[in-house]
Amino acid sequence: MGEAGKWTRILGLAHGAFMTYAALDAGKETASGQITAQDLIETYRVKELDERTEIYGIIGNPVSHSLSPYIHNAAFKFYRLNAVYIPFEVKNLDEFIAKFIRQETREIELNFKGFSVTIPHKQAIIKHLDFIDETAEKIGAVNTVKIIEGKLYGYNTDAQGFIEPLKNAYGDLKDANIAIVGSGGAARACVYALQQAEAKTTIFARDFEKGKILAEEFQAAAGDLKSPTLDFQSFDIVINATPLGTIGDLENETPVIARQIKTIHLAYDLVYNPFETRFLREAKSAGVPTIGGLAMLISQAMAQFKIWTALDAPMKEMSRAALNKLQR
Ligand code: NAP
Repeated sequence: MGEAGKWTRILGLAHGAFMTYAALDAGKETASGQITAQDLIETYRVKELDERTEIYGIIGNPVSHSLSPYIHNAAFKFYRLNAVYIPFEVKNLDEFIAKFIRQETREIELNFKGFSVTIPHKQAIIKHLDFIDETAEKIGAVNTVKIIEGKLYGYNTDAQGFIEPLKNAYGDLKDANIAIVGSGGAARACVYALQQAEAKTTIFARDFEKGKILAEEFQAAAGDLKSPTLDFQSFDIVINATPLGTIGDLENETPVIARQIKTIHLAYDLVYNPFETRFLREAKSAGVPTIGGLAMLISQAMAQFKIWTALDAPMKEMSRAALNKLQR
């Protein structure tokens, strides 16, 4: 039942169950964790799955609002792969790895081939890996695991996912003056990618000391987000790497307002839900071009798909699936 039981509703039929319950529509669930019939059939393709189906998924807590199942299943469907991507609400990572993944200890055979890792497990997953890619090691976080012959290989596609849309919109980032607001996990991936691109980065964190530690690690500078006279006149690009603006309680919040950014050349919000955040509206009202968080979400997912399947990710289908879900 609940979010944690969703995988049983998706995989039951493939493993011999006679039927599975579904909701007629969102909001019409008769039990917690029920998935709509439309999602079961069109997104998860439950009628096509069998015991040989390759299992991928996202592990984290919470995962209920993740768009990743829509994005990755659209890519599997496009290539007609016998594969499915499932949300796994994982509270205890050690138990999940022991009982679902590791050949020696697992209690169920699901044919797992890989998974995305999200909050709060991006760092904790590292000790479970047999191999970690150099970028992921430098960032200190893993968002992608591939399983080959029982061994776990860890990667980080957030840095690539972040930088690609930025380079597409701005061009060469060498010596560009870039301000990042926030100093959490996403900010780390951004600072690493910007260092690789030889940009001049300054981190503005609400906790100045925390920002300074991150800045020093990647030869960046630290600025004071709480300064009453803060403006971003000397910057080319401002990036929001905080959750401010996210749907729900934070929706009407923004790390900076139009007056502070009217001279910059680009505003980039990592928040993707809603599609247009308050920060992006502030930038638009100041006449500043913008990039929304969906671009990074799709770009990092495309890199994951390539790691798992060695195929080129179908960008159009993946973007359309995410947008459809956001607008539903
Ligand atoms: P995180 O590790 O929890 O870090 C959040 C950061 O935001 C922390 O530095 C936190 O400060 C800061 N913060 C929180 N509330 C704040 C406030 N009111 N004022 C100023 N700073 C505030 O989260 P994360 O993984 O870095 O993710 C950050 C955002 O990026 C999330 O909204 C996430 O959805 C988004 N994201 C998007 C993508 C994408 O693909 N588009 C990928 C990754 C993340 P403290 O350190 O002081 O707590």
